[in-house]
Amino acid sequence: MENQPRPTVPRAFDADHPPDAQIIDTCVHCGFCLATCPSYRVLGKEMDSPRGRIYLMDALNEGQIPLSQTTAGHFDSCLGCLACVSTCPSGVQYDQLITATRPQVERNVERSVPDRLLRALIFNLLPYPRRLRPLLVPLAIYQKLGVQKLVRKSGLLQKVVPRLAAMESILPEVPASAFAAPMPERAAARGKQRFRVGLITGCVQRLFFDRVNRATLRVLTAIGCEVVIPRSQGCCAALPQHQGQSGQARQMARDLIDSFADSNVDYLIINAAGCGHTLKEYGHILAEDPVYRERAAAFAAKVRDVQEFLYWAKIPVPLQPIADGPLAVVYQDACHLLHGQRISLQPRQLLAQIPGVQVREPVDAALCCGSAGVYNILQPEIAEELGRQKVENLLATGAVLIASANPGCALQIRKHLELTAQAVPVRHPMELIDAAIRGVKVADLPAG
Ligand code: SF4
Ligand code: SF4
Repeated sequence: MENQPRPTVPRAFDADHPPDAQIIDTCVHCGFCLATCPSYRVLGKEMDSPRGRIYLMDALNEGQIPLSQTTAGHFDSCLGCLACVSTCPSGVQYDQLITATRPQVERNVERSVPDRLLRALIFNLLPYPRRLRPLLVPLAIYQKLGVQKLVRKSGLLQKVVPRLAAMESILPEVPASAFAAPMPERAAARGKQRFRVGLITGCVQRLFFDRVNRATLRVLTAIGCEVVIPRSQGCCAALPQHQGQSGQARQMARDLIDSFADSNVDYLIINAAGCGHTLKEYGHILAEDPVYRERAAAFAAKVRDVQEFLYWAKIPVPLQPIADGPLAVVYQDACHLLHGQRISLQPRQLLAQIPGVQVREPVDAALCCGSAGVYNILQPEIAEELGRQKVENLLATGAVLIASANPGCALQIRKHLELTAQAVPVRHPMELIDAAIRGVKVADLPAG
């Protein structure tokens, strides 16, 4: 018996870039990452922790276990928040491991029909502003005529299609600005020109958070930037990239690079955390594309989060108070800024420059709010619990305003504020800086 060959088990991952065994081997299984992992905090199971997932990847690489729906479920429960990357004392690049694992799951796991339909809806709609725009009018009617309230009150959608209900529950109100003329393709610097920058407007951001893009544009021109905003630009690829849709992500990255091809800018500015993280990864995303490889790396090298840029470039104009007295503001760290780009100090220091603003710190600042791209649609139960905890911690600071630099986080937080009947506004830091430059009180800003 002893000398009989072990039966060969087929490799569970296919040969197209499985997670790197050398990175897997850097994990010493110490478990430090478990305490900071949001999915482990909610589910409490080893296999839903970074260490557990790394064990699974290793076993799949070795062909010891099949890539079943159950196994895939443990990867699906990962928010991709990268808190484990920040925590790991051994420097395990979990981000690279999960980025390699997700496309394997998409290619090799048969998902249920409802799951496939929901994912098809998400990936064929959300990252395409031109497809989303025609839906704005029916959506506005749905909201203004009170149908939305009825749907939510009845709880019917929740009973019949819970994940569609989760999608509906974070639906932002269609703002009047969604029907306004688009931003100009070029805006001149106010005063002496210091930089020429490109502004990336996002997909969902440009329709539902247009006021944030316009505030960002005003801030950039006020500090001496000429701003280029090509109208041809589409989605940055964050949404498909984070969900393992690599082909779609690569095409979107190529298209965005083409949109800015002749712009001749010093920097490319983005005001959404998740998008900024993906944009800085373009060199990796297109590393095997012989035509775009170098252009992608050059593009990524110019990308700056707007807060990172502003903190570095300095604000050479006076800032005025945005409230009649002291204003307690709590800054909510978006994971793809904090863990993905190591940006945490700059937003806080920028906010603290506004006269009268007191920046408060929440408990568990580094813990994900549960938004995580479309995670709150795909994994609503875990996202619910994380959203509840996040809002509880933000409110416990006593702040009267929440600053968030990611549209997904803002929607998640707003939803949970509404559930607790709290009327605390959520604003992007650029809206506050813009108000301080213009001398506008935050109470007089258009509804957010
Ligand atoms: S990923 Fe890092 S922190 Fe987590 S178990 Fe492995 S070595 Fe330890
Ligand atoms: S990325 Fe976030 S959810 Fe995923 S394993 Fe790491 S800490 Fe946990």
